[in-house]
Amino acid sequence: MKKNYIGIDLGGTNIKAGVVDAQGKIISKASVATGSGPEQVVERMIQAARQAVQDSELKMADIEAVGIASPGPLSSADGVVLRSANLPGWHDVPLRDLVSKALKRPAFLENDAKSAAYGEFTAGAGADEKIANFILVTLGTGVGGGIIYHGRLLRGVSDSAGEIGHMIVDPDGDVCGCGQRGCLELYASASRTGRYAQHLLAIAPSRASSLRALLAAGATIDSRAVVEHAKMGDELANEVWDRACRFLALACVNAARWLDPQMLALAGGMAAAGNFLLHRVKQHFAQLNWKMSETKMEIVLATLGNDAGIIGAAALARDSEHQR
Ligand code: ZN
Repeated sequence: MKKNYIGIDLGGTNIKAGVVDAQGKIISKASVATGSGPEQVVERMIQAARQAVQDSELKMADIEAVGIASPGPLSSADGVVLRSANLPGWHDVPLRDLVSKALKRPAFLENDAKSAAYGEFTAGAGADEKIANFILVTLGTGVGGGIIYHGRLLRGVSDSAGEIGHMIVDPDGDVCGCGQRGCLELYASASRTGRYAQHLLAIAPSRASSLRALLAAGATIDSRAVVEHAKMGDELANEVWDRACRFLALACVNAARWLDPQMLALAGGMAAAGNFLLHRVKQHFAQLNWKMSETKMEIVLATLGNDAGIIGAAALARDSEHQR
């Protein structure tokens, strides 16, 4: 009998659940609005999971285990979400056991970015038996990440290994939501890239830029607009995009120094820019990187898109025995 798993990706807006086979292929998917408060959110997670199983034409009894990808901070060993910026009112929620009890299946809890990293490692950009050391960097509202070291997800002693967004890139920089100064996500996240463009426009009112028309129309400038206008040749938009790519490249060089992995993949909203992101990051990487020996780390785009969390959570449930 073929084995199947459920992966649940708990987001601030939507809960996505999927039935995933042992090869990491999604058989069916369901999505519901997240709701608020632990009780309602758990109820909706169960609803999404049941819907996905129904659509797969399997039964809950055919599901081996359930993997949950959740925003953190959390304890994967205890299965507890400690608190969450995206989910107000969450404090020490035993999410793993609540889901396990309701679905009557074994369940596992992991951070969402780490789950996505494991998904890309097992079924996406890093799915190559020659690759055992892999890093995923997700560029969304914030910057997240996950590290696979010799085939195992690296959690650290407090589940905070791979928090690449809070790597300090300027100790004199602005204060981050985490309390540190100058974290990477203040320079290279999708939201901050848009904000930096607005900042440049505000401090130099006479500087020409096609982005000004957006502001005049009352729109906020996001990273997608920056990319669009940079591609059209707008100088200010290019300066903003280049700065974000340079800080990302800096993080990539440091990642190579710490871990020397075979691959680092870029994912999330900003990675939708495709080669416009990748080429620029690689250019800066080549400039910043040391010259004394070859760096074999390949920088690529992630391939699973929004499914990485579901696939990764399911794969972690599948591999739970040797991933602990
Ligand atoms: Zn930070």
